[in-house]
Amino acid sequence: MEVVKITPRGYCYGVVDAITLAKRVARDPAVPRPIVVLGQIVHNQHVVDELAALGIRTLDGRESRQELLDRVPKGATVIFTAHGTAPEVVAEARRRGFHVVDATCPDVLKTHRLIAEKVKAGYTILYIGQPGHPEPEGAMGVAPPDRIYLIARPEDVDQLALAEDTPIAVTTQTTLSQWDTAAIIEAVLRRFPRAEVYNEICLATQQRQEAAVRAAADVDMVVVVGDPRSNNTNRLVEVVQKVAGKPAVRVGHADELDPAWFRGMRRVAVTAGSSTPTPLTRAVIARLETF
Ligand code: SF4
Repeated sequence: MEVVKITPRGYCYGVVDAITLAKRVARDPAVPRPIVVLGQIVHNQHVVDELAALGIRTLDGRESRQELLDRVPKGATVIFTAHGTAPEVVAEARRRGFHVVDATCPDVLKTHRLIAEKVKAGYTILYIGQPGHPEPEGAMGVAPPDRIYLIARPEDVDQLALAEDTPIAVTTQTTLSQWDTAAIIEAVLRRFPRAEVYNEICLATQQRQEAAVRAAADVDMVVVVGDPRSNNTNRLVEVVQKVAGKPAVRVGHADELDPAWFRGMRRVAVTAGSSTPTPLTRAVIARLETF
């Protein structure tokens, strides 16, 4: 079976910077201990384990960032993740005397700035994002609760208790796909025809999705390497299935590959989410090449 390696794939610059920053903090003897991360620094368990080996503890669970703050020991260093954090949570961490390190990706910070500017200019924000993911949680915290609404499906637009002449600005989570935001944006424009639309899907996400869709045209199946909690990994699977109309499967590592999935296939392509460490993807490619 031929294995096609899709490029670009894997780590984006925001993920590399966040991991590098956390490792630098771990090596700095002047930084107060313990060092904790509020949530997973990037959505990949292998990265979390690697940081744990350097003495960085990850506080994770179903709680919000604000709630996780209550579990931080006194005098600790708190690292905020690449997904971005609500300004009020960062301010609260400082009020509690924690040493704060912010690993937010610059592309996420750009969205935060856009939301703040638009709210100041009198707009109400419709933020297209995935409920329960930390990036929307951080972005929603940039605006007062009555000036920003999380939109996950086109139906959510009809349920908004807003006058039709409300000045609206639409923005998005960075790791969505242009294909699934399109229907929501259409629904917004139907109800608020003068809404301003700011597509904040980052370049790294777009390039990985477009490359996966292009490659999918010439193969029997696409394998996406990444963590089940990684939004951009799950979107890669989705765009291959929905846009290219080809089978796609997500695996966390090579051991999850089942030879039975590939029976009768001649060409399979491999890509990886932007938080997937390169050695994991290499191991998946190497295993596939033995099939
Ligand atoms: S996927 Fe995009 S927004 Fe997220 S860390 Fe990477 S570059 Fe930043």
